[in-house]
Amino acid sequence: MLHLLCVPAGCSASSDFFAKALQQEYGRSMLVTSSTVLVQKARMQGVNAVNFDYLANAVLRRCGRLHVRRISRKAQELIVGNILQALQEQGRLPYFEKLIAKKGFLRSVTSLMDQLGSCAVTPDEIADAFAHWDGRSGSYRQKDRESAELYREYIRYLIAHDVYDVAGMYRLAAEKLETLIQAEGALQWDTLFFMGFYQFDAWQLSIIRSLSRLCDVWVALPYEAVRPELYGATEFTYGDLMRQAVLEQAILPAGLQRKPSLQHLVSTLRAPEIKPVPADSAIEIWQTEDRQEEMRAVLRDIKQLLRGQTVKADEVAVVVRRMEDYSGLRALCDEYGIPAQLRGSATLAANPVFRCLVTLLSSVSLHGREQAEAWSDLLAQPLQRIALGLPTQIATEIANAHYYTDCKTFVTEVWQKTGCTPLQGLWRTFTELKPEATVEEYCEKILDILSIAELKVKAGQLYKEGQITLTGFKNIACAHDALTLLLQSLPQDYLAGGCGNKKLSCSLFTEALTEKAEGISLNLQPENQEGIAVLSAVNLEEAAFRQVYVLGLREHEFPLFKHENWLYSDRERADLTALGIGLPSSADGYREDIRFFANACAAASERLVLTFFTDDEQGASPYIAEVQSLFTDLKIQVKKTEREIADSLSTRELELALAREGQADFLRQLAEGITEVGGSDRKRLTNETGWNGNLGDPELLRQVERQIGDRFSASKLETYRGCPFRFLVSYVWQQQPAEEVEEDMDPARRGSLLHKVLEKFISNHLGEPLQTSRQEELQAELDRLFSETWHEFAEQGQLYAGDFWQHDKEQQRLLLQQWLHKEIAYSEAGSLRPAYTEMEFGRGSTNLMPLEINGRRIFLNGKIDRIDRAGNSFYITDYKSSQAPKKADFLDTNLQLPLYILAADRLVAAKEGGTVTGGGYYVLKDGERKESFLFVNAQDGKPPWQTYSEMQDEDGNKIPVTDITVLQEKTEQVLADTLCCMGQGGFRPTHTDKCDAYCPAAKICRYRILQPDPGGEERHE
Ligand code: SF4
Repeated sequence: MLHLLCVPAGCSASSDFFAKALQQEYGRSMLVTSSTVLVQKARMQGVNAVNFDYLANAVLRRCGRLHVRRISRKAQELIVGNILQALQEQGRLPYFEKLIAKKGFLRSVTSLMDQLGSCAVTPDEIADAFAHWDGRSGSYRQKDRESAELYREYIRYLIAHDVYDVAGMYRLAAEKLETLIQAEGALQWDTLFFMGFYQFDAWQLSIIRSLSRLCDVWVALPYEAVRPELYGATEFTYGDLMRQAVLEQAILPAGLQRKPSLQHLVSTLRAPEIKPVPADSAIEIWQTEDRQEEMRAVLRDIKQLLRGQTVKADEVAVVVRRMEDYSGLRALCDEYGIPAQLRGSATLAANPVFRCLVTLLSSVSLHGREQAEAWSDLLAQPLQRIALGLPTQIATEIANAHYYTDCKTFVTEVWQKTGCTPLQGLWRTFTELKPEATVEEYCEKILDILSIAELKVKAGQLYKEGQITLTGFKNIACAHDALTLLLQSLPQDYLAGGCGNKKLSCSLFTEALTEKAEGISLNLQPENQEGIAVLSAVNLEEAAFRQVYVLGLREHEFPLFKHENWLYSDRERADLTALGIGLPSSADGYREDIRFFANACAAASERLVLTFFTDDEQGASPYIAEVQSLFTDLKIQVKKTEREIADSLSTRELELALAREGQADFLRQLAEGITEVGGSDRKRLTNETGWNGNLGDPELLRQVERQIGDRFSASKLETYRGCPFRFLVSYVWQQQPAEEVEEDMDPARRGSLLHKVLEKFISNHLGEPLQTSRQEELQAELDRLFSETWHEFAEQGQLYAGDFWQHDKEQQRLLLQQWLHKEIAYSEAGSLRPAYTEMEFGRGSTNLMPLEINGRRIFLNGKIDRIDRAGNSFYITDYKSSQAPKKADFLDTNLQLPLYILAADRLVAAKEGGTVTGGGYYVLKDGERKESFLFVNAQDGKPPWQTYSEMQDEDGNKIPVTDITVLQEKTEQVLADTLCCMGQGGFRPTHTDKCDAYCPAAKICRYRILQPDPGGEERHE
């Protein structure tokens, strides 16, 4: 029999279920829960508790299926990859063909296979549903056919090879249960309890229904009919279970005795027509300057509470939506001396053991000098002191003393000079690594290398001798074990994915290995059971604390923004649900998210602090306004940044406060070691070597210079001139924000779409005047090109035509029409006519743009959006979406315009016997030309818009730029200065007004701490 217990927010079914389970003999009942925390909690009470996967396996064992080969996610991707390749070769994927090579496509298709599998539908049913989908265009019908075929082939493969993904395992369990029911068999349990879930997929529901025909099944589901908006994620599961379940009316105890405001919040969140009440001190909302200050404000508050002994550490929880957004919490807890139940974890891919391995593997396909350089890097890594017992300093000196063009000679020299025998063994095994091999062959060889290194034994010995710390030892030992497991499991994945015999290049193998290593977390610190809990909001079912701090309540962060699926949009998914295929949509993500937020609020009994910060990208989470709307007087408290010396709660805070106030004597008087512990910011403040961004080590400088190379775009040079440290992080460390394929219109994609439309339009009108008399015709043409380009982008998967875009699209269309209107006016007022569009230079072997700077040859590259011509005068134009560089920046941080003018002059005007008179920007958002430059001596082809003709020197004096010769001379001076500073290792952070907008180095340079905003005062709004 199936019993359904609806659990209102803030109540708990656990004591009821635990009591029922304990009344039965252990083993005759079982509790199935959603998380390991709940499993542990139940087991502590003596209740037999497991998760859903265990239940499915137990059912299969009961029904005689002792072994089920579950495949990993990697194996699924390999299978799908093979199917895609085979179908493409047979010409059966005309729709997906263009997308196959795109980043993320394989992952998206694999996840679609999972989602289709979870719907409990067969390939025939899917093909049938697609065939009956009305209103599909020809190309979308083709997409549907291909999706159905991919799913059919995927399922066929799993059946043929007798392997199972998660949905497959659940399906098998559901089928076996059905057979057991037909055979009038029995299970080992009398009663099963399900708790901690807020939804089940189709196969899980099928299993629960079948189980309820064989034993008593109780399901506790968070649900209140009066608050549908809070239980959107549960609605489907509730409806499905209610078709067969008996609705039980138990009176459930509230999990916690909450303060009145907290109880009001928990019981009225998302309820219709709620009258606000006055708030008590149990709820607070804090706004801080940035994430760092947010964490500090929370930890300072906790530290004060702990010092006052008003709460114990384990009565406090810090909750965040995604742990990765708050990776600095561990270090900050340590800084404030707050014990925390937070695992110190990092991915295997970032571990030095793995990094060494990647360096080794990357050298397999290299030769000569390049291979010798790679090995010089490898042998310089500090880990080699432990792994090979190698004095790395000697290896570096040997590498620097000669220009090795043969790696073997270099390694032999190092071996002879250091007597390092393990190096010989490593070299021998390395030479056995082939540029192409199966995954199994690669993994075997690497396991050999690991055994030669005997890392764990050597690190253990060093720890015993006190030469490395326990954390250092754990770091190596955990990485060694995780890597060994990975090397043992990866061949299994390839075997299950039908790629066991496939030969891979060493670089592809390294990529696959790194991808898996990125998903493996190493737990480096023993978990502290006594400290404050640091938890993700997704794991808070039944959690209870006296004080809860919820951080990161920002737009797109909490609630977490979910992109619509690349392959099937939300609207298509809604249509499919109506056809019986319920695929999850991005809206489902928001419905889940409110549950997480409600659980975080319900976890607090005495005090709840909600915190956020805003920046140019994101404002406060809508949850903040929702919570405020439930109370008449709940204000936002703004927390200040700077603290007095007397307020310091950590050595670092004290040191910073002393450093800011110039209290050098006190700094010196601090106990030995304290200044060192918290000293990095002071070292930055006092411009100390090693902390000021200036590199001094000649070997390091050589490597940095090699990495920078001799090819420069304007933005590469501008980045250095804007902030050398940002340049170092972006172009040398290569820490660019990852580019994701997104379905909505992000600014970059919008920019390229508009550029493309303008390129097409202008190409049709080269040399022509644009006249008002043709305005309508030109408008129609521009609209047509816009629609056409939009379709092309959609077809290439560069944008998705969802609801958001439909709204945005009209805005972009109007923007283009505004551009046309202005363009006609410019055309009628002057004689410049478009002559070239999208002229690329410096890439490939044509249109090279070399420059000799102080005896060094560099190559410039770029793309000029448009060149206009009037007689023999040329004028360049660059389209900007929202802002143009200011004229004061010309030939300083704005190098694009001077460099493009020089390039156009050399590559176009000089060849056609003309001159470039200047160049400027067209700002599409404002619909006009701005910040345009014109040489003082320009005669013909003067543009009918405002221009300037000078640059500013360091003291702000204006210097006229008369002609191209002067511009060339000034540009070369600027480039010479820039390259000289780079060559001398000048990479000091330089604060600008755009500092933290997109800077990948913002968290490292800590410009906010070093240049704090003096206006931060605590105030109430
Ligand atoms: S945040 Fe500002 S100062 Fe820091 S690296 Fe970036 S641009 Fe430079």
